[in-house]
Amino acid sequence: MGWSMNKYIVGIDLGGMSAKAGLFSLSGELLHCARAKTDKKDGFEGTLDVLGALAKQVAKEGGADITDVQAIGVGSPGVVDSRTGTVLRWSNFEWTDVPFAKTLSKKTNCPVFVANDANVAALGEAKFGATAQYQSSILLTIGTGVGGGIVFDGKLIEGYKSAGAELGHITIREGGIPCACGRCGCYEKYASASALILQTRRAMVEDLDSSMWQLVDGKIENVDGKTAFAAARQGDRTAKKVIEQFVGYLSEGIADFVNILRPEAIVLGGGIANEGEDLFVPLRKAVDKRTYVAMDIVPLKIVGAKLGNTAGMYGAYCLTQQK
Ligand SMILES: [Zn+2]
Repeated sequence: MGWSMNKYIVGIDLGGMSAKAGLFSLSGELLHCARAKTDKKDGFEGTLDVLGALAKQVAKEGGADITDVQAIGVGSPGVVDSRTGTVLRWSNFEWTDVPFAKTLSKKTNCPVFVANDANVAALGEAKFGATAQYQSSILLTIGTGVGGGIVFDGKLIEGYKSAGAELGHITIREGGIPCACGRCGCYEKYASASALILQTRRAMVEDLDSSMWQLVDGKIENVDGKTAFAAARQGDRTAKKVIEQFVGYLSEGIADFVNILRPEAIVLGGGIANEGEDLFVPLRKAVDKRTYVAMDIVPLKIVGAKLGNTAGMYGAYCLTQQK
């Protein structure tokens, strides 16, 4: 046993099924990763026991000790007041007003910083990923819904008690598809991967000759977010129309964010970003058509995310550095 001169940061990405932890050097080098299962049944205290043990495990496996860890950052699902370290509401785990940072800090003897997971991922992507060279960016994660975060001058824009930046719940179709949030016509009902799948299926039912049917072996349940893109590449007209409409929806929301905040870059995360320029070329055009200030006057980058499922861990590291 000696005195370790090395200091570390632990970054944790908490999810409903598992938690991922990364051991970082102070300068943000990811040294080691570990993972643990999470379960709603563990309750708040039990889940934080799991996270405390995970922090100790990732430190130990990375050749450090928890006493060498200077701070722990966490991205947590739900409404998270990052200023007080409180999870105000995580519906999935039925947490209400839980003192997250304080409790985990007690279990680990480390200062703990926590923020909403989508915001934290945006911070990671902004500092270490696709937009590291820009001062301002908005990350949109296209998945079951549309999540994301806003980063300006290296800091998250979260709103009062971090209850803002709910980018998936702006209305792009008044009186449109009902959303679980209580509103109709929310962005994520049109521009998420789930929405794209529904749009693809609807178009296939209306065009039984579409080559998309071959791509899914005649089974509509096999449709995924890639189906329309793959068929469009083969020249399928119906698929091209699906993509065109989806890109239109996606650009409506982006244009709103750009008109209000004008970041230097928009970053798209989620599987759809893998479609590359087949998505980004028409998307840039569609966004440029809709924004008040055109891209030839003020540039705007629209790019794919780079960090994938490590964005949350990197962001959690960043969280400890900005507080
Ligand atoms: Zn909504």
